[in-house]
Amino acid sequence: MFIKTCLLLLLCGIVSLSAHGYEGYKIYDINARNSFEKQLLLRLANNDDYDFFDMPRSLEAATRVMVQPKDQEAFEQTLQRFSVDYMVLDENMGNTLQQDQLENKSQRLMSQRGADRSISFTAFHRHAEINAYLDELAKAYASRVRVETVGKSYEGRDIKTITISNGDGKSGKNVIFLDAGIHAREWIAPAGALYVIYQLVENFIPNADLLKNYEWVILPVVNPDGYEYTHTDSRMWRKTRKPAGTCKGTDGNRNFDFHWGEVGASSSSCADTYKGQTAFSEPETQIVRDLLLGLTGRGKFYLTLHSYGNYLLYPWGWTSDLPSSWRALDEVAQAGAAAIKSSTGTKYTVGSSTNVLYAAAGGSDDYAFATAKFPISITMELPAGGTGFNPSTAQILPFVTETWTGIKAMAKVVLNKY
Ligand SMILES: [Zn+2]
Repeated sequence: MFIKTCLLLLLCGIVSLSAHGYEGYKIYDINARNSFEKQLLLRLANNDDYDFFDMPRSLEAATRVMVQPKDQEAFEQTLQRFSVDYMVLDENMGNTLQQDQLENKSQRLMSQRGADRSISFTAFHRHAEINAYLDELAKAYASRVRVETVGKSYEGRDIKTITISNGDGKSGKNVIFLDAGIHAREWIAPAGALYVIYQLVENFIPNADLLKNYEWVILPVVNPDGYEYTHTDSRMWRKTRKPAGTCKGTDGNRNFDFHWGEVGASSSSCADTYKGQTAFSEPETQIVRDLLLGLTGRGKFYLTLHSYGNYLLYPWGWTSDLPSSWRALDEVAQAGAAAIKSSTGTKYTVGSSTNVLYAAAGGSDDYAFATAKFPISITMELPAGGTGFNPSTAQILPFVTETWTGIKAMAKVVLNKY
């Protein structure tokens, strides 16, 4: 019956989105002008009902938060009572996301018309299309590409990696491991990973240097259940989808077993930064763990793509101390930032994640560095689009090409040094 109704209305997608459609949700930008106001924001951020897109950090940068209609009056009153400056960036996120969805749908259809590949960089693609693209590459470039199903998500989706080489048949090469999409709503991150795949495979000749003594292993969507859920139900979902306590989902990037849960992670299963019932409680983080550990020794560079904020971050995430090799990490990250700056003018901030952002234990970057012994481990936060997590389809190509410039520059430092 539902299917029939959907066919009649041709509105299935829109109807299902409006069930969690963010109707009347507002996005606020708040400027904390002193440490008292910053503390106030930090306290508000502890409330799971408020969705802080970024945490209050420095006094220079505004904090962005999404608030549902029922909480808006109290939220605004609190800010007004303490004379905190704020502005409403988006009066109705529901409208914005519905327009985004229509635009993405039409771009997806257009890009598929007569196309010889399942994906494009003019639309955000579904997980099945992304997997289909990997399989197409494995078929078309069999000597240089290997695609493996490395496990299944909680809801049973195939999680695939693509291993890209130059096809010279030599084994045991060093490895650059790249992943994306551990946070479901950060759609530009999987797009960025797909663009790296596209460059290394389909544009091989100008990039052959990057594959001379190295293989690249790329996992474009770590959290496909969450990713699909952001397409079908709730665009701003961040976590995995496995039930935990009274709510669903764990923050995959708080679920790794290195100082797990010690700082910057929530014990409340309803929180967006929920650390999980145990370390590696999620099948998706177990898969990344096993890939990383399987690469110990050969794995020289772990890069994980997120959005947003223009950051290149390195360990530690769990403490403000720096690892003894921080200069090597900094050199790689700085090379990425410099390449991006000189190509597009976009400015990235470089530093250890605790010092640049805030302490948050259980991240994949700390684990890759400390436990899987990747000497270089970096989290790249791509730029904001739209209100942050929702770049327009027209922004995809400029963002991913710029990101590729930075990734190439970082990879070149790594291949020259390790
Ligand atoms: Zn993220």
